[in-house]
Amino acid sequence: MKYSEVKEKNEFIVIVGCGRLGASLANTLSDEGRDVLIIDKNKDALRKLSMSYGGLALIGDGTDIDMLREAELEKATAIVVVTNNDNTNIMISQMAKNIFNKELVIARLYDPERDYVYREFEIDTISPSILSSNEIWKLLTDDEGR
Ligand code: AMP
Repeated sequence: MKYSEVKEKNEFIVIVGCGRLGASLANTLSDEGRDVLIIDKNKDALRKLSMSYGGLALIGDGTDIDMLREAELEKATAIVVVTNNDNTNIMISQMAKNIFNKELVIARLYDPERDYVYREFEIDTISPSILSSNEIWKLLTDDEGR
């Protein structure tokens, strides 16, 4: 399922990991009027949320099934898993797919060589190193990028 397909519904997006990426995404989605809940195991991380953030925030471990239940993941239209650990992201994504039957699961993947694991479980991935490499390539090769 693609994001455009759930867009029209009453969206509720769960984000796991309130680091630089998770917090920025939560702030943007909230500013755009989406219903957002973010989880981080470190309470200080939640300080990255902006003053205007209108979503919910929980302190806890995203690998804990009770935490995901408390976050009401069963009601979510999508989950974005962006902790700083690939194994953790795989584990949470699998729980979202297999236990909570989520169709739209997006995870950050630092090590692109593990992409096959995600593909096997139909998890969409974002790899910072591949994205950066593509953008650098564009800047190096595209005249308009200079
Ligand atoms: P960053 O690398 O800046 O995007 O930060 C990643 C965030 O993920 C940090 O704020 C961590 O505290 C958070 N994190 C790491 N493991 C977990 C976990 N198991 N559950 C929830 N948050 C986590």
